Amino acid sequence: MPLPELSDSQIAWVIEQVAAHAENQRRAFAPSAVPLNLSQKETMRHFFPASTLDFARVLVLTGDMAGNPPFYGELIKMGFQASSLPNFAVMTAITFVDIVLSREPLTDRVLFHELVHVVQYQKLGIFEFAAKYVQGFLSGGSYGAIPLEVSARELDARFNVAPTLPFSVAAEVQSWIETGRY
Ligand SMILES: [Zn+2]
Repeated sequence: MPLPELSDSQIAWVIEQVAAHAENQRRAFAPSAVPLNLSQKETMRHFFPASTLDFARVLVLTGDMAGNPPFYGELIKMGFQASSLPNFAVMTAITFVDIVLSREPLTDRVLFHELVHVVQYQKLGIFEFAAKYVQGFLSGGSYGAIPLEVSARELDARFNVAPTLPFSVAAEVQSWIETGRY
């Protein structure tokens, strides 16, 4: 079933909710999150600038994962099916700005993927990240089609096949921004 057609003001409202949720979640989890350890920094420094590796914080949640956002009820009233919305409850990991939340000990590949999102947040800012996430979801029709996710998946796959072959994630993200692919 296709996603509902939203008005411009509804889309603006959803973007505001997504941005506010990211800010709330990062604030809630920041006090418990810790910097990357030395081994993680050593692996990731061939791909990410120190400004990203020093900024990011990680938290492996032992109890409840971050739940679905409080505005999902409103989205369902707008005509979305619950099953079409990204389900936070089953995600391995999720990033809110600088805070990487994971329900399992982070593998290098999952950490890499989430650090791509940290770079995207750093370059776009929280509001633009939310706007591109929402617009990508609405035009792509699913979570997997969101360009911010497509690019993070492409880059984590590239890392996975050659974990010691350096490339610049910041340059890749910048190129996606400049060519309007997000
Ligand atoms: Zn992702």
